[in-house]
Amino acid sequence: MFRISQYMRELAQAEQTGQYPQVRDRQARGPVVIWNLIRRCNLTCKHCYALSADHDYEGELTLPEVYTVMDDLKAFGVPALILSGGEPLLRPDIFEISARAREMGFYTGLSSNGTLIDAPLAERIAGAGFDYVGISLDGLKPTHDKFRRLDGAFDRSLAAIRHLARHGVKVGLRFTMTALNAHDLPNLLQLMKDEGANKFYFSHLNYAGRGNIHRDKDAHHQSTRAAMDLLFEHAWRDAQAGCMDDYVSGNNDADGPYLLQWVRRNLPQWESALHERLVRWGGNASGQMVANIDNLGHVHPDTMWWHHDLGCVRDRPFSEIWNDTSDPLMAGLKQHPRPVQGRCRDCQYLAICNGNTRVRAQQLTGNPWFEDPGCYLSDEEVGAPSTPFTPSKGKSRRTINVAPATA
Ligand code: SF4
Repeated sequence: MFRISQYMRELAQAEQTGQYPQVRDRQARGPVVIWNLIRRCNLTCKHCYALSADHDYEGELTLPEVYTVMDDLKAFGVPALILSGGEPLLRPDIFEISARAREMGFYTGLSSNGTLIDAPLAERIAGAGFDYVGISLDGLKPTHDKFRRLDGAFDRSLAAIRHLARHGVKVGLRFTMTALNAHDLPNLLQLMKDEGANKFYFSHLNYAGRGNIHRDKDAHHQSTRAAMDLLFEHAWRDAQAGCMDDYVSGNNDADGPYLLQWVRRNLPQWESALHERLVRWGGNASGQMVANIDNLGHVHPDTMWWHHDLGCVRDRPFSEIWNDTSDPLMAGLKQHPRPVQGRCRDCQYLAICNGNTRVRAQQLTGNPWFEDPGCYLSDEEVGAPSTPFTPSKGKSRRTINVAPATA
C-alpha cells in the first residue's frame, strides 16, 4: 500500500517549517495479514479474485482453528489483521473473531461490500471497535450496479457508509479503476468528502496484457497517470489544509517513483528528502510485510497469489510457513534486491519500487521475475529500455484481476 497522504503531510510540514520532518517508521516484526475468512458472498461481481458466490464453501477454518492461528500470528509479531472475504459479515462468528483480535491488540480492519450494513449492523460494527472499515465502490450508481450485477447495490453501499460514519467508524471507499469506471473517479472523490468518509483506497487496474509496449502512448497508462495526478492534487490540498483524510493506493508500486517525479516538478527542494523517505518505504512488500491467508487456511504471498500455495495453517503454523524460503518464489520475494529482470533490474527507481507486483509478470510471461508489465512509467523515466516478450500460453494470457476480494 502506498500512503499518498502521509507523504503529502510530511511535505506540507516541510514547507511550513523549512525542514523535512524526521519520521520514525514503525517496525513490525511480522507482516500485515489480509485474511479471507469466508469465500461466500451475497454478490457475484465480475472482477472478484476469490470467484465468490452465494453458497457455503466446504472446509473453511473453524472458530477454534481461527483462534489458534491468531495466537501464532500474535506471537510472530503480526501487527494488523484485515478481515475480508467473500463478504466477511456473512461469517456468523465475525464479531467473536474481531473482538478477540481487538483484545489481542491487533489493528483490525474489515473489508466489506457494504450491501448488508443497515443501521443496526452499523451500530454493531461500531461497538466491535474495528479500527477501519473499507467499503467497495466501483463508481457512481449506474457503473457500480453494473459491476456488482445488482440493481440497488450502490444505494445500499452508500447507506452503509452513511450509517458507519454516523456511528463514528473510520470508513473508507475502496475503488478499483478499470477502463469502464475511470470516468467516475472525480465524482467518487467528491462523494468521499460529502459522505464523511475518511479514506480513499485506489486500487490500480491491472491491464498487463497490453502493458509492455508503448507505455507513453498506452491509453490505460495515460488514464492511470491522470488518476494518480488527481489523487496527488487532492491529497496535497488536504495536507496543506491540515485535513487528516487519507488517500492511499495499491497494486502498483510505481506510484512511489511517480510521486517523486511530482515532487521534482512541484516541490524540487524536497526531492532528495522524499527520495530517502521512499527508499525507506521500500516498495512492494508481498511475501515480506504483506501476507494472505485464504478461507481454507492456505497461505499466499499476497491476495493476488491464490494460485501459489505456500502451505496450510492446519498443517504448519503460519510463522513457520512464512519463514520457509525453500519455496523459490518466497526466496526471491524476500531477497534484496529481488532478482528482477529486464528494465526493472536496470531501473533507477528499483530501490523505491522493489520491482512492483510480481504476479503480473508471472501471469503474463510465466516468469515471475520479468519486468512488471503493469508499470506505467516510460523507459525514459525509469532510465532503462523495455524488453519485448511473447505472452505465455493458457490462463496466463488472461487479463489479471486485482480487485479486492470483497470488491
Ligand atoms: S521499471 Fe520496474 S522497478 Fe522501475 S518503477 Fe517500473 S516496475 Fe518499478
